[in-house]
Amino acid sequence: MDALSHVSLLVATMNKGKLREVQSLLAGESVEIATLADFPDWPAAVEDGETFEDNARKKAIYYSALSGRITLTDDSGLVVDALDGGPGVYSARFAGPSCDDVENNRKLIQMLTDVPQATRTARYCCTVAVARSGKVIATASGTLEGCVIDEPRGQRGFGYDPHFLVAELNETAAELTPEHKNRISHRGQALRAILPQLRAVLRGDVAAPDDS
Ligand code: IMP
Repeated sequence: MDALSHVSLLVATMNKGKLREVQSLLAGESVEIATLADFPDWPAAVEDGETFEDNARKKAIYYSALSGRITLTDDSGLVVDALDGGPGVYSARFAGPSCDDVENNRKLIQMLTDVPQATRTARYCCTVAVARSGKVIATASGTLEGCVIDEPRGQRGFGYDPHFLVAELNETAAELTPEHKNRISHRGQALRAILPQLRAVLRGDVAAPDDS
């Protein structure tokens, strides 16, 4: 299938780690990418959904209507079984509204103090959504299984990566090269799955789901 061409795409995020991964995954496409950093005066979308998909859709609808551009959003996070699925959709603000990755990781490890390693299973989840003029035209999701470890390992990635040991690899997500992480990650899976849908909708081959 042809690569996307001449598409001006708003990637609606302020998260530099996510943006690096999205840019690298779209590197083969002829898209011109703008981000929320280019529009600092825009009020942020309300992220009050109960699922990653709810939030990805809400953000895509809001920013595509505001910008007039085709908009790609990602909502993602860490789902820890021993925390009943937390921090989940609250992953970015787990330790408070303006907390950073260090504080989030500290809270995560502290809450798992009494949980044995064998039951520290977790997964990264991601839903990406694309919207045009306030209507969602495609969504896709991905997951990466792993577990949470106490001692941080690795300097790459972002967020919870130094504490997230990828299942079946004896490496944390922060020890993987960016290429390796993109090949297997929740975000990589979701973006690879959405691209063919996006290309088909843009070429007019199929009706956009919410347009029909
Ligand atoms: P969002 O911007 O509301 O989608 O929040 C996503 C949050 O989930 C990030 O700020 C990180 O804390 C966490 N997260 C999502 N994906 C990753 C990843 O690939 N590595 C590490 N942390 C991630």
